[in-house]
Amino acid sequence: GTKYRVAIIGSGNWGSVVAKIAAYNTVRNSIFEDEVRMWVFEELIEGQKLSEVINTKGENVKYLPGVQLGANVKAVPDLLEAVNLATLLVFVTPHQFVKGLCKQMIGNIPKHARAISLIKGMDITVSGPCMVSETIEEVLGVECSVLMGANVANDVAKEEFCEATVGCADANFAQTFVKLFDTSYFQVASTPNVKGVELCGTVKNVVALGAGFVDGLKLGSNTKAAIMRVGLEEMRKLSRKLFGDISDDVYFQSCGVADLITTCYGGRNRKVSEAYVGKYKESPSEGGASLWEKLEKELLGGQKLQGFLTSVDLQELLVARHWEHDFPFFTTINLIATGKLDPINITSYRGCSRS
Ligand code: NAD
Ligand code: 13P
Repeated sequence: GTKYRVAIIGSGNWGSVVAKIAAYNTVRNSIFEDEVRMWVFEELIEGQKLSEVINTKGENVKYLPGVQLGANVKAVPDLLEAVNLATLLVFVTPHQFVKGLCKQMIGNIPKHARAISLIKGMDITVSGPCMVSETIEEVLGVECSVLMGANVANDVAKEEFCEATVGCADANFAQTFVKLFDTSYFQVASTPNVKGVELCGTVKNVVALGAGFVDGLKLGSNTKAAIMRVGLEEMRKLSRKLFGDISDDVYFQSCGVADLITTCYGGRNRKVSEAYVGKYKESPSEGGASLWEKLEKELLGGQKLQGFLTSVDLQELLVARHWEHDFPFFTTINLIATGKLDPINITSYRGCSRS
């Protein structure tokens, strides 16, 4: 049959690593065409177009410096050219941009194409929460799976061993994604539980804010462990309330407890959140959205923070459903993150009703 043609939509820190992994596998497996097209949000680096720098040096000098992506990765700044005739679409942009990008692709994606989202975030609509995979399915009319896991990009780029979870409703097709992503250092397992996997990956970024607050307050490992435990408990509760009885197995996959641990120790959300506490102490009146934006710019060199936006989206959902009291931890994180509560109150969720 015809070979799958792979397009990566996104070329940030994780997007670049994923392009490298996919490109390694496409040349080794005859079910894929060798070339992997990677859509680049164009910008100038010392007067030169980033896409051209990537194609000349084989390296994303801004978002993943020092790592060769593979000769078969082609950076393409035009979105429609990047996805032209692609049958496997890998979405890996910061979540706030994905809907706009999908809208630009309407009418240009073959119906038999399949998508997979590596994006951690959600969208809140009038009818309720919309996970990124659902947005992609609705806008483009293609089936969308997910891949989530304990995968801090810079460490995966160094080929340090880790695991990941593919959520794909079609167990046969899941193997195609496993073939695209699995390597000796990136071990991919699959489960049919798409929404459970995606919710874990999304909401752990909110728990990570809590872990960063703990670090900023210079509280130790016991407190951080307590935050992570209660965070995981509320993750499970949310997923049950939204999607019914999700099997607990999902929390034991890489997308569950493992991603939570790595993000709470080594992630960007944790890092920025730790810094937030310091700045808040200097000037409490300047907390909230603008401080997150400022710290994101200062500390992440163009990379994007998902946790603050996700906390805002999540809280909108909790308020709309009158669930704030069922999720005292998520609510406390949101109050702190929006500048309404001093981070010192991080453990005040304990005074609220418990599950
Ligand atoms: P990133 O944080 O490096 O974001 C920067 C990217 O966003 C760049 O490619 C930039 O060009 C692009 N961008 C900036 N403005 C844009 C705009 N207006 N429209 C479109 N694109 C724009 O991105 P990332 O690390 O690849 O993360 C993508 C997703 O993967 C996120 O949901 C993240 O949570 C998830 N993820 C990241 C990691 C990680 O360690 N970096 C690991 C696992 C999952
Ligand atoms: P951060 O965005 O907080 O760095 O988390 C990365 C991640 O999702 C690791 O799996």
